[in-house]
Amino acid sequence: MTRIVIAGGGVSGLSLAAQLAVTDHRHPVVVVDDGSRPLSAMAWASWSDRPGLLDAAASRWFDRVRVHVGGRTTVLPLGHYRYRVVRGDDLLTVVRRFTDPLPHFTFHPGHVDRVEDGGVIVDGQHMRARWVFDSVAGTAEPAPEDARLIFRGWHVRSERAAFDAETPTLFDFRTSQVNGASFVYVLPVDAHHALVEHTSFTVPGAEQDPAAQEEALAEYLAEVVGTGGHEIERDEQAALPLCSRQVPRRHSGVLTIGAEAGLLKASTGYAYQRIQRDSEAIAESLRRNGHPFELPVSPARFRMFDGVLLDVITKEPAQLERAFGALFRFRTAEPALRFLDEATTPAQELRLFAGLPAATYLRAARRRSWPSAAPNVR
Ligand SMILES: Cc1cc2nc3c(=O)[nH]c(=O)nc-3n(C[C@H](O)[C@H](O)[C@H](O)COP(=O)(O)OP(=O)(O)OC[C@H]3O[C@@H](n4cnc5c(N)ncnc54)[C@H](O)[C@@H]3O)c2cc1C
Repeated sequence: MTRIVIAGGGVSGLSLAAQLAVTDHRHPVVVVDDGSRPLSAMAWASWSDRPGLLDAAASRWFDRVRVHVGGRTTVLPLGHYRYRVVRGDDLLTVVRRFTDPLPHFTFHPGHVDRVEDGGVIVDGQHMRARWVFDSVAGTAEPAPEDARLIFRGWHVRSERAAFDAETPTLFDFRTSQVNGASFVYVLPVDAHHALVEHTSFTVPGAEQDPAAQEEALAEYLAEVVGTGGHEIERDEQAALPLCSRQVPRRHSGVLTIGAEAGLLKASTGYAYQRIQRDSEAIAESLRRNGHPFELPVSPARFRMFDGVLLDVITKEPAQLERAFGALFRFRTAEPALRFLDEATTPAQELRLFAGLPAATYLRAARRRSWPSAAPNVR
């Protein structure tokens, strides 16, 4: 049996299906999804400095971002990067352009009860597979949570033409810090419409505080954006566990993918672009080796940096603004984005960290045991 089953047709399942459709034609592929997280309600923003297979799914592209840190607003060009938004429905449409012409690719509505070596249990029935890519069940031992990213976003319509339609605000610290290190993120649609999100890095296990988040959003819209009144068209919220340590992703013929595989970057909560790179590497490994496990490993120091930052900001929330201020203090956002992409050299990192309180970070580094790179993980 050479069948591939992809458990979950969200970002990671769909991205992998598209990569397999263009890379490897030896295996029948079944994508199983129970519709519990409807794609029509999802959209992902991310940055990238290179073309990608699914770029046609992006509905917006931006060349600059705004940041407000240390009492100052700056608009930063992105250098070689671009920031883009992909809506769930558009992702599915573009993926199906690759998979629909291939009769051995199928999309199966169903609930994955269990993932096991040799297949999955879907609605009580065993579905055999040589390889299972799992974005729903995850590993038996999830990585310990270093912190939690809690956010609440409002898709708003503003009375006044108050939003800059060409410039997302990556972070603006003019907001309540009562629930931990917090900032507001603004993703504009046009001058009257935007997603405005209050984001907090909290201690592990923290719960949403809807009243505080709503108050902070209303205050930001009135006093910082100056909407002159707004209507909330849609509301979204999430609490994402942030884990800087990696757990093994591979169990015999099963490879965990997506957020369950630790692809959520612990210091940002972004995963979309990391999932794209991972999907490409999995498909390429299958094509070259006949197995999906030859995946690039990111240097362990980046996980250590994430863990140390989360340790510092959960103990001293004001340090988040200071850290973001240091990373984004250059003429463009490119040095910061390259660092967050784990593509900088140690010399570049030293330059980025200059001005941060070294003793605070060294103390946090000592509290943390050094992570080791397990084989077949990234
Ligand atoms: C509200 C929110 C906004 C986010 N915004 C961004 C962003 O802007 N940029 C960014 O980079 N990251 C973002 N993230 C983080 C990350 O990119 C997303 O969580 C991303 O969707 C993770 O992809 P995934 O494939 O692992 O999971 P998902 O995309 O959630 O896919 C899982 C799929 O499995 C299905 N499913 C679940 N359980 C079962 C089951 N038992 N059987 C069958 N099917 C099942 C679901 O219907 C879903 O389609 C966001 C996360 C959240 C929660």
